[in-house]
Amino acid sequence: MQDKITIVIATRNKGKKSEISDLLKDFPVDLKDLDDFGPIPDVEEDGDTFDENAYKKASFTARVLGLPALADDSGLLVEALGGAPGVYSARYAGKNATDEQKYQKLLQEMEGKTNRKAAFECIISIAVPTGPALTYEARCEGLIAEQPSGSGGFGYDPIFYYPPLNKTFGVLTMEEKSHVSHRGKAFREFRGEFDKVMLWIKQHMPVYESFKPI
Ligand code: IMP
Repeated sequence: MQDKITIVIATRNKGKKSEISDLLKDFPVDLKDLDDFGPIPDVEEDGDTFDENAYKKASFTARVLGLPALADDSGLLVEALGGAPGVYSARYAGKNATDEQKYQKLLQEMEGKTNRKAAFECIISIAVPTGPALTYEARCEGLIAEQPSGSGGFGYDPIFYYPPLNKTFGVLTMEEKSHVSHRGKAFREFRGEFDKVMLWIKQHMPVYESFKPI
């Protein structure tokens, strides 16, 4: 049997952690998240793109903890709002706003707009402590609903209407959502290359000397 590799998911978002754990449940990885360690400084997500933020989160976490780390940076892009909230999706209604406050703000901004086209995007970055990283990306297109429905998932799920299923992401089960979502697609690509990625991690991990007291 293949040895399990420990990978830290660089997030404190429990919704993301449980989706990612579910997506990798059949793979030989021991997944941790930031709450499994002591206090770790927060990474400022100040990049202009999902790519930059995903790399920043993954490489910072890998360096600080000395372990391979995986970060997902994702967000919602709304056509009628020029791509907003985009990289600001998590902070759209202020730093400490609830998911509901965020999607209600978005619904307000969309009042009277007939173009409801939107897309979720997701970039996954997998980094080792010495800096290099691999990335996967995916997108899921849908529409902004007129009103929220469902309480599943997290973030903007209750107002993201997915036409092929005639439902918002908020009413889908985690399995149904992962089947079609931006994150599900990006992880399927990663899983398709899983053995190559594990080999790449092993080849790029620094060799640490074990601590011997004098
Ligand atoms: P970050 O990737 O942690 O910076 O945050 C991305 C933000 O985008 C989340 O806090 C959510 O508000 C939103 N988001 C990302 N993926 C999803 C999703 O699958 N469903 C709903 N909202 C999402």
